[in-house]
Amino acid sequence: MKAQPTIFNIQKFSTHDGPGIRTTIFFKGCPIRCAWCHNPESQKFGPEIMITKDGKEEVIGQTYSVKEVVKKIKADQIFYDQSGGGVTFSGGEVMAQNLDYIEELACECQRLGISVAIDTCGVAPTENFARILPYAELFLYDLKFIDSQLHQRYTGSGNELVLKNLQYLSDHGATIHLRLILLGEINEDTLTATAIIEWLNQQNIHVDEISLLPYHEFGRDKYQRLQRICTQNFIKPTDEQIDEVKNIYTTAGYSVKIGG
Ligand code: SF4
Repeated sequence: MKAQPTIFNIQKFSTHDGPGIRTTIFFKGCPIRCAWCHNPESQKFGPEIMITKDGKEEVIGQTYSVKEVVKKIKADQIFYDQSGGGVTFSGGEVMAQNLDYIEELACECQRLGISVAIDTCGVAPTENFARILPYAELFLYDLKFIDSQLHQRYTGSGNELVLKNLQYLSDHGATIHLRLILLGEINEDTLTATAIIEWLNQQNIHVDEISLLPYHEFGRDKYQRLQRICTQNFIKPTDEQIDEVKNIYTTAGYSVKIGG
């Protein structure tokens, strides 16, 4: 039997990871390394030590049975029902975890009438997406870069699988909210936005909403607390640049929001 995934946070009353009031389950372990990642404690699979702000050692991550997680999710079902919310499986990368566990958890939520959203960077076998699709009402799908070389440079992995899985989800009727990181002087320009729109059109990919995620500096201190070096040296896009990019997507007919 495969090991249970490690979970490093169960966040209740979340309003940024899909519609309504949600519980977000953060799975630990990610196959890529985004240079701007503000949750470095989510990257390694399995528990690890992080130093707290007052200098103590804390173990990040623990395992739970599917039953235990369902109990925590179910406790707030009334709020999901009233707000059109549900549960979001996030990370790290949920689709790169033990899929037997994830599928069982999603299936149980669906059986209870709790809407499931999947927050993913797209770097996982297509077969995993095929397995989870029947249970997921929404995919929050990151497209870090449309250019594979830039994807490789800033995440350590090309984007071929990301594009393939996005195509797969669209072809199979998934509801997709596309999430685009905006890094100042790297990909906040109008050419990048135009290239993404062209590719979506060429591939006939249906996206229900686009979220623009401007780079921010939160979480930089966590690298030091994990005894790692933070090499982030990015520039925040200006409000004007964000508005310009937003206008390009809006003009192309997309529903766009700023932030997660
Ligand atoms: S996909 Fe998310 S969790 Fe993984 S490295 Fe990138 S930002 Fe961090």
